[in-house]
Amino acid sequence: MAGLLWEAFNILKEVLNRLIKLPELLLTLIGFRPTKRLRLRVVVLRDEKGLPLARNEDVLPAYEEARRILSRMAGVAVEPAGWQVVTAPHGAPKAALDVRCTDGAWRDDLGECGAFFRDLMAKTTAGTLIGYGAPITVFIVRSMSTHNGCSLGVATDYVTVEAKTLKSTRRLLAHEVGHACGLWHSKNPANLMTPKGPGEELAGWQAAILRTSRHVTFF
Ligand SMILES: [Zn+2]
Repeated sequence: MAGLLWEAFNILKEVLNRLIKLPELLLTLIGFRPTKRLRLRVVVLRDEKGLPLARNEDVLPAYEEARRILSRMAGVAVEPAGWQVVTAPHGAPKAALDVRCTDGAWRDDLGECGAFFRDLMAKTTAGTLIGYGAPITVFIVRSMSTHNGCSLGVATDYVTVEAKTLKSTRRLLAHEVGHACGLWHSKNPANLMTPKGPGEELAGWQAAILRTSRHVTFF
């Protein structure tokens, strides 16, 4: 139940933020695009034996790809929230290592997995009460039964990416961050938000939505 309250609060923060930033959204659509920033952190989980699921060098190319795409397509500078990559301090429960991502990840989020992620985020990143400028955390998990990456969109401040997909689908990390910033799937094969691929483009209106996310700030 705590998880549901938490996500309801995130959605409330998102709605307020979107209302406040409506004038900026309209300005962005007509070309107002000074550089904004987004704080991002990747947290690599450890398995039952305490072994990290990925090395820094496995994660950094995907992180750099997200940085490159968001800068080029949306004028958003991705900055590390403290460190770019951190390894979880202790082994994760199976529910968090092998996520299901069915029903839009709600079942994972409202169970042991979500509780573990919220606890870890509280230890590794400082959130903000009104959600303005809250960092996005990418958890590297061992497996996912239905997808390779998963996000509950604006309801959570975290997304998940499968460890083995980091190298083969480098843009997936940026794609999941796009969901956390309010973007939904696109049918354009060249688009970052296409479920297959993904590509690296963002339309102007997508960039405007991403830029006015509660995670993206001027300072
Ligand atoms: Zn997606």
